[in-house]
Amino acid sequence: MDIILASKNQDKIIEIKKILNKSKITLKTCHDLAIPDVEETGSTFVENAILKARSASIVTGLAAIADDSGIEVDFLNSRPGVKSARYSGENATNESNNTKLLRELNGVPYNKRKACYRCVIVFMRYPNDPFPIISSGSWKGYIAESMRGTNGFGYDPLFFLPEFNKTSAELSTIKKNSISHRAQALKDLEKYFKENYK
Ligand code: IMP
Repeated sequence: MDIILASKNQDKIIEIKKILNKSKITLKTCHDLAIPDVEETGSTFVENAILKARSASIVTGLAAIADDSGIEVDFLNSRPGVKSARYSGENATNESNNTKLLRELNGVPYNKRKACYRCVIVFMRYPNDPFPIISSGSWKGYIAESMRGTNGFGYDPLFFLPEFNKTSAELSTIKKNSISHRAQALKDLEKYFKENYK
């Protein structure tokens, strides 16, 4: 069975390929087939992941996998949420997003700086699949008062994990990829494929 992975992020492509390489599935990516960017108009991670998977399935005629992720901050009533990538505007960078987050939380005490990374991955057999397989993962932490660490990407330099006394940008890639929101969602998906596409 061929499946299109609706992601242009090389790290995600490698992770998902690793998981599916034991099954009878051949994963096609944007390197094999052109997939258009989709406007993420949903108000939930699930909606956006479905939009991306459906669009890739329509264009390629294949079953599709897509993901959507972001960070929720309690004090900001779950913002930036689905807008995490463009939190500080259309031309947002990781740095401008982190700077804006520090500004919005300026003076907020540690116990009110709770945050949670979210990741949703969906698998759709065809564009009008009435039963998309939805796997998800959450990773709880706090927003630090300054940036620390150089690993990872996005909000990692600010995502503080008290159990390690480190931000996720200070964790090794191996460690992060074994416990993160994305790792949890991928484990779920792996289980589904093991059971259904041996
Ligand atoms: P997307 O799922 O590629 O659309 O990512 C959404 C945005 O959420 C990213 O651009 C990051 O800003 C943020 N994000 C999602 N996952 C992570 C993570 O593991 N570390 C840091 N930032 C993340």
